[in-house]
Order: sequence, then structure tokens, then C-alpha cells
Amino acid sequence: VTTAPSDRVQRGSANNPFTLASPERVFELVASGARARSNKNLLVYIHVPFCTSKCHFCDWVVGYATADLVDRGELQSRYVESLCAQIAAYAPVLRDLGYTVTNIYWGGGTPTRLSPQYMARIFDTLAEHLDLTGVVEHTAECSPETVTREHLDVLVARKLNRVSTGAQSFDPAILRKMGRAHGPEQIRSAMQSFRDAGLQNFNIDLITGFPDQSNETSLASVREAIDAEVPHVSFYMFRDFAEDLVAIKQAKTGTRSQSSKTERAATYFAAKALFEAAGYEEYIVGYFAREPRFRFDSEDYYFSLRGDYFGFGAGAGGVLGRHALKSGVPSRYGNSNVREFAAEPLPLYAGAMDRMPDVLYTDGYFKAFATKTGINFDRWYDQFGFSFHRFRDERPGIARWFAERILQGAEFVEDSEGIKLTPDTWIETMMWRR
Ligand code: SF4
Repeated sequence: VTTAPSDRVQRGSANNPFTLASPERVFELVASGARARSNKNLLVYIHVPFCTSKCHFCDWVVGYATADLVDRGELQSRYVESLCAQIAAYAPVLRDLGYTVTNIYWGGGTPTRLSPQYMARIFDTLAEHLDLTGVVEHTAECSPETVTREHLDVLVARKLNRVSTGAQSFDPAILRKMGRAHGPEQIRSAMQSFRDAGLQNFNIDLITGFPDQSNETSLASVREAIDAEVPHVSFYMFRDFAEDLVAIKQAKTGTRSQSSKTERAATYFAAKALFEAAGYEEYIVGYFAREPRFRFDSEDYYFSLRGDYFGFGAGAGGVLGRHALKSGVPSRYGNSNVREFAAEPLPLYAGAMDRMPDVLYTDGYFKAFATKTGINFDRWYDQFGFSFHRFRDERPGIARWFAERILQGAEFVEDSEGIKLTPDTWIETMMWRR
């Protein structure tokens, strides 16, 4: 599906804070906000919307057909070309605004669903247009059945220093129920290939609280990760918000059984105890690092409001010069129209941060409450261009968000520097985050 640019131009309105803008127009919109910022760090995100299969719990890749998600042919090749064209068009904007790239993150989807040659082409386009000598963390997501030694060699040669793989569980029956395209043996061999490629830092994602996943099954996977000395584990509570997920429908019709929230929380805390007994630290809710050097810097960057970020690709978003930017459907990350992006990659939706809806903050930037330091008021002002206090006072929806959390047991502490959850309530509150 392609649409002529003139048909797609939309202007922001009272209900729609976004305008569809060309690279030149994006530059005009963000320039004064970017120049007013004191922190000019930049995280670059590369969105690859292809996977081997559609997992039953996944609410990240939405808005396009499964046939497009699993494509390995013509759509993929057009996508790579369009992504490179988008990089070539926006990199000068980022450079001219004085940003320094400190973090690179490949997400999706499954970036290693692309061939090593395609990944090299995308990275080399980025390196051609932006100075990457200041990058401290370069991470690529992968799934165990797609990542090859060639992928790792090509990326490590390009300063990749971290990979993150969606393991989810070491239990073959649970993996099947999740609709994963791999078994436990492929996770084990992927972890070995990370080590063989010289990557000291890697992450595996593990889910808990999935329908039919018992307490014992969750904890067995945690024990295996600990025994394998995995440097970093992202331990996620299954998110049961999206009504149209296969797993949620199955739980609703009784095909799968779901344990109570109390039981799921107890499993989470039992896993936390296992990690901590083995020396792991939960430095952000759900993020367990075996040593401080294995912490996930790009997530801390985003959660802690440590700088602007710019996303390349069909469903990527960003914040630049106190404006939100988004490819594809503006409502949320991952919601994309891959074919439309492949046909016309340059226009981005752009809108001033002070006009963004509450949900962008409550589901997005309030993830800062998953960190130990919470929201720092100076960083908030620098990133968004208005004070946190004014924001909270003027928006009833934000006051409601705080009131609901407090009713559920959350306790916030606030001083002149910022606001955070108390050590007793931050995990209980943020383990259920969207
Ligand atoms: S591989 Fe990841 S992004 Fe792709 S469908 Fe599964 S969970 Fe979603």
C-alpha cells in the first residue's frame, strides 16, 4: 500500500498533536529545543520489524500482517534500502544539531532475521553519516534460532559489545505454548556462540507469569540462567493488557490457566531471591546484572532520561529537541506500517512534548520509577522543556495515575531533586509495568 506524500500530510490539531513532517521540517521544529538542551547525548535506535514467527505473548510488533513479519524476500530488501535512505536523510539533522551518539540499539522484531550483509549495510550507512567514536554501548537484539556466528563476527567488527536474546524460558513445553520458533537447545548454543565471539556481556529475557507457566517452571529457568553464569537477565512479568493476544484469548476461554496476581508476584520475589543469592543485583525492576559492568546502559539511558534518542525504521519513535517523533502509527512504539515505510521512509510524525497525551508519559517516561532514583527534575526539564511540577499540577490524568498507584500501595518520596518510589514499594509497583 503506498500513498502519495501530499495525501499523507496531516497537521496537528487539538486532538492530534502530531504533524507529518519532512526531514527539513523536522529540523525546523526541533532546532530551538535541541539548542536549548544542556545534554546533547543521543541514543540511536534501529527498528527491524521482521521475526521468524509471531509469539503468542507479543504486543510489540503490531499493525501489520504476519506474512510481512516473517518476510525474507523482496519486502526485506526494500526495507533495508528505505532504512538506509532514512539514515542518510536524518543523520545530517542530528549532526547539525550537535548531538553525540553514545548508544546504539537494534530492536524489533528480530534484527538478526536480517542477513549479516544487510546488518552491515545499515551500520555502515550510519557510520558514514555520524561520528560513532563516542559510543559506549552497542547492543543488538536477536532470537536464538536466527543468530549465526557470521552475524556476530560482522557486528563485533563494528564495535558491537552486547547482545540481548529472547530466551523467555528453558522449558520446551512453555516455549511451544508461547509460539516461540526455538527450543532450549538453541538458547544454549546461542549463548555459547556469544562467548565464542568474545562478547562478555549478553542478556537473556525470561518471562514469568505466562498462562500455564507454573512457579516451578519459572524458577527452573532462573536457576539454569544462574548456573550458566548469564551476565544479565531481564526478568519480565507477562503483560496481560492487550486483549487480542493469542495467550490472553486462550486464558480467557479456559484453554490455558492463569495463576492469581498474588501467586505471580510470589514467583517474582522467589526468582529475585535466587538471583540475589547468586550475587546478581536488581538495579532496575526486572533487570538483574551479575556484575555492575553488565548493567544495560541503554535502558538506564531511556528510563533515567539521560538524553534524547532517535529511532530509525518503520515503527521507531524518538524524542529530539523537546519533540516526540514517530514513524508509522504515532500511538505507540512498534505500531507500524512496514510497506508504507518501505515505499516512503522520510516523513516522520512530529509533535511538541508539552502537547503529548498523558499515556505517553504514564506508559513511557514513568518507567523512570523502575529505577532507584526515579524522575530527576532537572533531567525532566532538560528533556521536555517544562517543569515536572507544572506538568503534574496541570494534568488531571497524571494526578489520577499517582492516586491509583498510591491506592495500590505505592509510596513516593520527593525532595528538591526528584521523585521516586520507596525501596519497600518500587518492585511491587513496577513489576506490572506496561
Ligand atoms: S520474536 Fe520478539 S518481537 Fe518477534 S514476535 Fe516474538 S516476542 Fe515479538
